[in-house]
Amino acid sequence: MSASAFDAVYFADHVVTAGSAAQAIAVRDARIVHVGDRAEGEQWAQTAAHRYDFGDATIAPGLLDLHSHPVIGMRTTRGIDLGTVDDIVELAAALRAAAHESEGWIVGWNLGPRVYADADIGVDFFRATVPGRPVFVKTFDYHGAFLSAEALEAAGVDGAVEFSSNAEIACRADGRPTGAVWEMEAVALVEKAVPQPPHEEQARELLDLLARMASAGLTLTHSLILDPDEIALLTTAESVGTLPLRYRVSPVCEPGASPDELTRLVDLQARRGERWSVDGVKFFLDGTVDNGTAWLRSPDSHGESTHSIWQNPEEYVEAVRFFASRGVATATHAIGDAAIEFALATLAQVDAPARGRHRIEHIETLPVELVDCFARAGVAASMQPAHCCMSLRADQSDNWSQRLGAARADRAFAMKDLLDAGTTVVIGSDWPIGPFDPREIIAIAEMRRRVGAVDMGAVVPSQRLTRAEALTAYTVSAAETAGLDEGVIAPGRRASFTVFEGDLFAPAPDDLPDVRVRGTIIDGAVGYGAVLASEPVS
Ligand SMILES: [Zn+2]
Repeated sequence: MSASAFDAVYFADHVVTAGSAAQAIAVRDARIVHVGDRAEGEQWAQTAAHRYDFGDATIAPGLLDLHSHPVIGMRTTRGIDLGTVDDIVELAAALRAAAHESEGWIVGWNLGPRVYADADIGVDFFRATVPGRPVFVKTFDYHGAFLSAEALEAAGVDGAVEFSSNAEIACRADGRPTGAVWEMEAVALVEKAVPQPPHEEQARELLDLLARMASAGLTLTHSLILDPDEIALLTTAESVGTLPLRYRVSPVCEPGASPDELTRLVDLQARRGERWSVDGVKFFLDGTVDNGTAWLRSPDSHGESTHSIWQNPEEYVEAVRFFASRGVATATHAIGDAAIEFALATLAQVDAPARGRHRIEHIETLPVELVDCFARAGVAASMQPAHCCMSLRADQSDNWSQRLGAARADRAFAMKDLLDAGTTVVIGSDWPIGPFDPREIIAIAEMRRRVGAVDMGAVVPSQRLTRAEALTAYTVSAAETAGLDEGVIAPGRRASFTVFEGDLFAPAPDDLPDVRVRGTIIDGAVGYGAVLASEPVS
């Protein structure tokens, strides 16, 4: 038997390429060598170690989700999903039902602003509803939480806390906590009190979650807030199995970080396992529109969202410069127009990272005059299409739109404008704040409404993407932003693919989430999918 010229040849009726139609891909040493038609593929297969024929399937470049929260999300979604609760009466009913079914802590998540915007949810409400129980309920956007007196006590919080960011334990005039807390530092502080399963159990739970993400077509997920346990969980997960996708994680640089802390975050960049690595640093420049913690040029209708999370935004500039000059890529959460403008001005004057691009996350309301600034600064726009239709409504009757007013709400999630201006636009999930399934997210990007909600009007329909544009955002643009030599099926690129059943471009958007993923290939090896069991040629 002669040595094989190729490790594998992959066949499918549809191969997504930048150029002409193709049905075959030859791979050697984890890189694509040839792309061509079936007849050429059969010739290459004669000297290949393996052949995989996917029939009428579509082979696309591997999909990359550059914004997700697997560990934090895995923990939170163990609780009750309060996403369908519409008012405080329904919330009380859901909590009582949960109290009936279990003992001890009651943990909930996904509480919408329509429930809490004008309601007084806190220790008194929980005492009246589920007396004696420790209760921890997170808002849908993770930027706020509500606790009972028992939960506050378990967290050791009995009054205001001094944070380095503008996070807050809300307190009454007498100094006692109301039970509401706002922004990441405050939410993280109280969440530590919520009991967790043993470490090994969590590592297995993480592997299961990653398998579900891979089975939806993802070949990489990027966790954008490093949890204190995350590296240990990934290490344990890899000791019991292979991660079914690549996993990147960025620690957060908090406001007020000391020089030692900045150095520690740079040193963390060396941490890696087989398929996971610490990569980049995350910043929060503001909070959210719904909670009145975004940073807007002029206040919202409640007179809120007037400042950055950074008490001194110049310290953000210094921190970004510190990481950029050491080659570290940065991702900045910037939702309000003032935050976006400040992030752009900062990123335009710092060094480019060693690989990939600096990026701005979310970009919820984008003034027309800032659209061109992204491409000029070489900054990627990282957006999450599902956010435009989770709580927003086409008629702008929702809390987000009401707070901003029509002019700013009309500039919601302007991904098409950014694309047309030559911006590198990547789309992702922000799971568990939105779904992680890229098929669903691509469909939402196409429709600007929820999948299956045919009566729901489109939210700013002029910002719709085509399926090809959305797929490009998940592949070519995501790879470029992440500094990965893939995302395009062309000779010389890394061999990472997602294989979809049938013609990916045939189904209507509402049917796209039903398209089965047959498997994924990561650097020429199996990511997900039993169908990829080796088929030796000879
Ligand atoms: Zn996020």
